[in-house]
Amino acid sequence: MRCILIGPPGSGKGTISAQLQKKYQIPHISTGDIFREHKQSNSEFGQLIASYIDKGQLVPDEVVMKIVFDRLEKTDCQAGFLFDGFPRTLAQGRQLQDYLSKKKLQLDCTVLLEADDDLIISRLCTRRVCACGAVYNTVGRPPKVEGVCDECGQPLIHRRDDTEEVIRERLNVYRTSTEPLVSFYNDLGVLLRLNAGQDSQQVLADFEHLMDKK
Ligand code: AMP
Repeated sequence: MRCILIGPPGSGKGTISAQLQKKYQIPHISTGDIFREHKQSNSEFGQLIASYIDKGQLVPDEVVMKIVFDRLEKTDCQAGFLFDGFPRTLAQGRQLQDYLSKKKLQLDCTVLLEADDDLIISRLCTRRVCACGAVYNTVGRPPKVEGVCDECGQPLIHRRDDTEEVIRERLNVYRTSTEPLVSFYNDLGVLLRLNAGQDSQQVLADFEHLMDKK
């Protein structure tokens, strides 16, 4: 399966991706996770990436595309892919389409996770993440032991870009740069919509229902 998840920050893309990856046995490719790894390395490139992420701004398209194309050449992508947080601009979406067309590959679906701004802000301010990919929420889905990952025991992180000021900037960027992709994928006939305001189990059930109908 070749699938893209788009939606505003905090719409649950990471949470549902972790479940879909297991179910469909395809690699979960989160450009945000890839950039955070570079950021942590503290290399010159990592510092450049941090200068965008920490302000809630997008990393330039050419940097993103180089990383994505390299990732798509890895053998695990022969089984398909699940993109989370990519593409985020029309230019990225178009370049991915060109790449797939040249390889004679079809995109199965782009799933739009829809949620309103108030819910997103409250979700992200209380979100805690683990380096292993697990995602928690101090209100709705707390870990068993405060501040510690249930899955691997590592300390949980409150992302620097999960503060209200940066979240508002990320939402602005989403509305201006990413939302045009909704019509782009709708015109390609691959757009599916999900209500991401529900709990993650219900979102997953709705996703499976959509896939069954396809
Ligand atoms: P995420 O974890 O998907 O919310 O991404 C965190 C940050 O990484 C974003 O706010 C951007 O700064 C950067 N980023 C992730 N994916 C992309 C992308 N496809 N294009 C540009 N910047 C990105």
